[in-house]
Amino acid sequence: MHTSLMDITARPSIIFVHGEGAWLYDGAGRAYLDFIQGWAVNCLGHAAPPLVAAITAQAGKLINVSPAFYNQPMLDLAAALTEGAGLERIFFANSGAEANEGAIKLARKWGQLHRHGAFEIITMAHGFHGRTLATMSASGKDGWDQLFEPKVQGFPKVPFGDLAATEAAINPNTVAVMVEPVQGEAGVIDGGDAYMGGLRALTEAHGILLIADEIQTGMGRTGKMFACEHAAITPDIMTLGKGMGGGVPLAALLAREDVCCFEHGDQGGTFNGNPLMTAAGLAVWNELSRPGFLDHVMTAGDYLSQGLETLSARHGFGAVRGRGLLRALDLKADIAGTAAAAALEAGLLLNAPRPDSLRFMPALNVSHGEIDRMLDILDGVVS
Ligand SMILES: *Cc1c(COP(=O)(O)O)cnc(C)c1O
Repeated sequence: MHTSLMDITARPSIIFVHGEGAWLYDGAGRAYLDFIQGWAVNCLGHAAPPLVAAITAQAGKLINVSPAFYNQPMLDLAAALTEGAGLERIFFANSGAEANEGAIKLARKWGQLHRHGAFEIITMAHGFHGRTLATMSASGKDGWDQLFEPKVQGFPKVPFGDLAATEAAINPNTVAVMVEPVQGEAGVIDGGDAYMGGLRALTEAHGILLIADEIQTGMGRTGKMFACEHAAITPDIMTLGKGMGGGVPLAALLAREDVCCFEHGDQGGTFNGNPLMTAAGLAVWNELSRPGFLDHVMTAGDYLSQGLETLSARHGFGAVRGRGLLRALDLKADIAGTAAAAALEAGLLLNAPRPDSLRFMPALNVSHGEIDRMLDILDGVVS
């Protein structure tokens, strides 16, 4: 289909018109089981009643007052998230990349003030932090090192999971280490608790900052509110996005009090912290905080993982990776793109983050029945 949209990705010709829970519908009324959910964004599924109610009520009350004024949902969400994350301050943004861009600026400013102008942020091979110039430079995606030259400087790369290489890369110019607890776009590669704990100890010992990019792993995705909790660590700076707004553009940068060195004028943004988005964020937070919600993510994640392992054994595929409801299946061959396309034909939305792997990121309230249905369709597709 040719449209006036910039051609930034290969889109199927389907036009989705509405959704409900785990299901999406096109104009002809055909149903699709959605295990992409806007790239791990719609954590409560499509048209979740608490989210719809919050947005509807807030839209009729107050949509925007400018970030230079307080509004109540902004204050309420700030209080909830800082307390939940164990970090004192928050800055709201509109996308993950913008939150990471803010994290990079905050770390650099902190380096100016407290580490003799240190500015380098050690980042990981195959990491993903967004699509602004700085966050593309911070990312370690194959091929990106050649794009949009000249790069933003100061993002040396080390292999993900390698503590010794990280320590060896620390020098007087180093201000921070930036990492995803589970590398999502790289294909759901779990760093593991020992690694995250090691990075925390290492950065502390060297007096530098640990920046956790929890844009994909945060907000309950791995079965804890934040993936860092698995390793019982608190980073100095954490970024959130994706699931945070349940589908609306909302992201955040959180930091320890003594790291928060922005002065007036250093950071801002027209739409940041507007009451419509923060009211949505608050509705999401309240749902995720309900007793038993995260237990369900853990249980459903295990159920999904076991189902995928059974399917894998039957078809001679490889390992199941990930945590909670962020999972990937190694197909042992570069057939993931073909499999995802065939799944779409069969009424199932799946993502292939790399040629040999399928990724599964359903709504966090997905039912066992919906997981069974997905496994059924996938089994048919790969047969
Ligand atoms: C999606 C993602 C981003 C970028 O978020 P956008 O909202 O697309 O800008 C950054 N980091 C990680 C780990 C992500 O998964």
